[in-house]
Amino acid sequence: MNENVKEVTRNRLNRVKEALEANNFEVYLVSDRAEAAQAVKSLLRDGDSIGLGGSETLNECNILGIVRDGKYRFIDRYEKGLSPEQVRQRQVEALGADVFITGTNAITERGELYNVDGNGNRIAAIAFGPRSVIVVAGANKIVKTLDDAIKRVKMYAAPANTKRLGIKSYCQSFGECKALALGECEMTDGCKGDNRICCDYLISAYQRQKGRIKVILVEESLGF
Ligand code: SF4
Repeated sequence: MNENVKEVTRNRLNRVKEALEANNFEVYLVSDRAEAAQAVKSLLRDGDSIGLGGSETLNECNILGIVRDGKYRFIDRYEKGLSPEQVRQRQVEALGADVFITGTNAITERGELYNVDGNGNRIAAIAFGPRSVIVVAGANKIVKTLDDAIKRVKMYAAPANTKRLGIKSYCQSFGECKALALGECEMTDGCKGDNRICCDYLISAYQRQKGRIKVILVEESLGF
């Protein structure tokens, strides 16, 4: 990354860090994905039970490699050969894990996390259950306001995620949410049907439980 861009990005991330800390999130600012992986490791204890939210950011940081290294009790919903019911059971089990690790769809400059799920298991774990939640986010996830977060998901995150998950949706073929094409941008506007991945919406704002959610802000672009 160009040095000037790097400095501007760092300044912005520092502002976001302060806003998140004012909302009782614990924040770690790191340079790249290798440091992000180290930061995740430093927040885990041997023997921890760990659940994972599906995330391209976590893939790019090789978090799966860390949690599968045998030191932890990883609740592995990606294990080959699991039936849909077994996957569901592991998702339920992850709600009671010691630690849940996830990406996020957006972070506002006011220090809010914004997440949208098709299934709801990821946002359920962010909101309640695991004693500790670790969120890894690249600088590309920062937006000014919640309205920008809503647009970000409709324009980039959801279309790219439908592609990643192999789901045939309007946004996958058209490149943005159906709501935008119709000139609508309320949070819950969009397509209908079984292939919709935008069903449950979570804004994590001021946290009563200080430090339960840790946010690792990375000075590079990660995921979408
Ligand atoms: S509501 Fe439907 S079209 Fe809109 S982003 Fe979500 S899945 Fe795509």
